[in-house]
Amino acid sequence: MAILNKLSILWLTITLIMAEVEDKNPENIDGKFYVDSQCIDCDLCRETAPANFERDDEEGYSYVFKQPETAEETELCIEAMEGCPVEAIGDDG
Ligand code: SF4
Repeated sequence: MAILNKLSILWLTITLIMAEVEDKNPENIDGKFYVDSQCIDCDLCRETAPANFERDDEEGYSYVFKQPETAEETELCIEAMEGCPVEAIGDDG
């Protein structure tokens, strides 16, 4: 029973910190990758994948302005997603 409780807490924690497609910033272009409202504007994704991520200067957050079109761009988007400190990038859009 205790292990089930621990698994439930782990699942809940993961669910709460993962990017949510329902919460994505409105500037994101339609498609697989997106940034949600958890973005803290750290710049990592824009540095990692500048061909796909851009900053909204008025709102102070990132969004995906172009979905990846090559294998290299896809790899860089995945790298950005994995490196995002607040897990604000999703790939299920
Ligand atoms: S890496 Fe994450 S927190 Fe940082 S700017 Fe990009 S989406 Fe926002």
